[in-house]
Amino acid sequence: MKIFEKQSNLIDYISKLKAEGKKIGFVPTMGALHQGHLSLIKQSNAFAENMVTVSSIFVNPTQFNDKKDFEKYPITLDADLEQLMHGNCAIVFLPTVEEIYPKGFENKENVDLGFIGTTLDAAHRPGHFEGVIQVVKILLDIVGPDFLFLGQKDFQQCMVIKKLVEHFNFSTEVIICPTKREESGLAMSSRNMRLTQNERAIAANLYKVMNAIKSDFSSLKPQEWKSKQLEKLQEIPEITTEYLEIVNGATLEPINDWHDAKSAVILIAAKIGQVRLIDNLIIY
Ligand code: AMP
Repeated sequence: MKIFEKQSNLIDYISKLKAEGKKIGFVPTMGALHQGHLSLIKQSNAFAENMVTVSSIFVNPTQFNDKKDFEKYPITLDADLEQLMHGNCAIVFLPTVEEIYPKGFENKENVDLGFIGTTLDAAHRPGHFEGVIQVVKILLDIVGPDFLFLGQKDFQQCMVIKKLVEHFNFSTEVIICPTKREESGLAMSSRNMRLTQNERAIAANLYKVMNAIKSDFSSLKPQEWKSKQLEKLQEIPEITTEYLEIVNGATLEPINDWHDAKSAVILIAAKIGQVRLIDNLIIY
């Protein structure tokens, strides 16, 4: 496994690989790796015979609207590198903040996100997606991947990054990979490391309320389900729900009837103590 800290060295190395006819699969991460991240590496490796998988570990300061969340973001670099090596990741990019932002944080890209830039996490985490766009644009410019592997766990982020790829005409295909879950149903997340065992068990309720909707969705209208499941969550004192919405999977607009959309998705965000978690489930 090759590790690069300088973008110029990585760019040179990748251009040699491309000249040899290799395809580049890219898995950007913020580290504190778990099986969800590793499943993306696996899918990239398996996607094509001549694929070389590049992963990056960079905790991007500009996408944290909450300073405490940034300061407490788990860092487990040695364990991450070990996991990437065992997961047959060929290349790891480990830049410093100065390497990514030599001129500071000011230069933000202007990508028109429309409604998806105003709803759900965009509304609850002001500036978050602007920071995501800023860093992903820089990383795509450096890595120039043929394929970009993202997790469905961050449903809205996938939509935002697809818009970014279109906006800048990157010749990169975005591949969305399924969410890896604990046995309890809890979506794997680096932030789960900050939960106690008891809090992890409580956090599994986020999946449970979504799964209850999915398994019997046609018995109630979407907005009736929303009220019912929000009440269920309110009964659990350790959970503070930020939103639970049932939306059109193509637009993120809330739906009132099941036949209103070709695809319906439940999205949820909640805090367990100080830790904010998000999850989603595609109903159809
Ligand atoms: P992060 O390190 O949280 O920024 O995530 C890096 C990538 O891993 C993103 O594309 C995430 O959507 C993806 N990811 C995070 N958690 C999971 C999971 N439980 N299953 C699959 N992919 C995930």
